[in-house]
Amino acid sequence: MSSNPSPAAERLSNAVPSSPPRTDVLVVGAGPAGLMCAREAAGRGLRVLVLEQSDRPGRKLLVSGGGKANFTNRRVLPLHYRCGDPAFCGPALKAFSPAVMERLVAAWGLPVEERGHGQLFLTVPARNLLHCLMEDVRTR
Ligand SMILES: Cc1cc2nc3c(=O)[nH]c(=O)nc-3n(C[C@H](O)[C@H](O)[C@H](O)COP(=O)(O)OP(=O)(O)OC[C@H]3O[C@@H](n4cnc5c(N)ncnc54)[C@H](O)[C@@H]3O)c2cc1C
Repeated sequence: MSSNPSPAAERLSNAVPSSPPRTDVLVVGAGPAGLMCAREAAGRGLRVLVLEQSDRPGRKLLVSGGGKANFTNRRVLPLHYRCGDPAFCGPALKAFSPAVMERLVAAWGLPVEERGHGQLFLTVPARNLLHCLMEDVRTR
């Protein structure tokens, strides 16, 4: 019997790398939460793989805020959240405050406007925010 691999086995061995790239963090879902998580992990030097089931990432982000992404609210407080653990929201908001998000969007050069009740929207389409977020994830 020949020891040569069959054409099918050869195709398979070409398709599957013998040692796949190392991944430290697997993120399921390329919505704003998953992309921010990936950005954060990549910024800490971790190798991140984002899995998305649909053909396009961030679909809901694209339609948020009537297409202008109401991306944060300057007046948001822990008491505005309903949470099983009342001790969670305060520190979480302190660690990533609306001001931090506002600075991030400003650093990406995206124009914003404040509407009623402290709501911040882009003045350009939400796809710009998605593009910046995706680029940030790729390049960190
Ligand atoms: C019309 C509309 C307007 C909105 N306006 C606003 C607004 O102005 N401001 C605001 O803050 N929020 C708004 N929202 C809500 C906002 O879009 C959501 O809060 C936000 O998208 C949630 O982000 P997420 O990453 O948690 O989830 P999603 O955006 O739902 O992302 C989850 C991702 O995970 C993927 N996924 C799910 N399961 C799997 C799986 N098993 N394997 C692989 N991938 C998977 C999905 O395909 C999706 O891409 C709006 C929503 C809608 C629909």
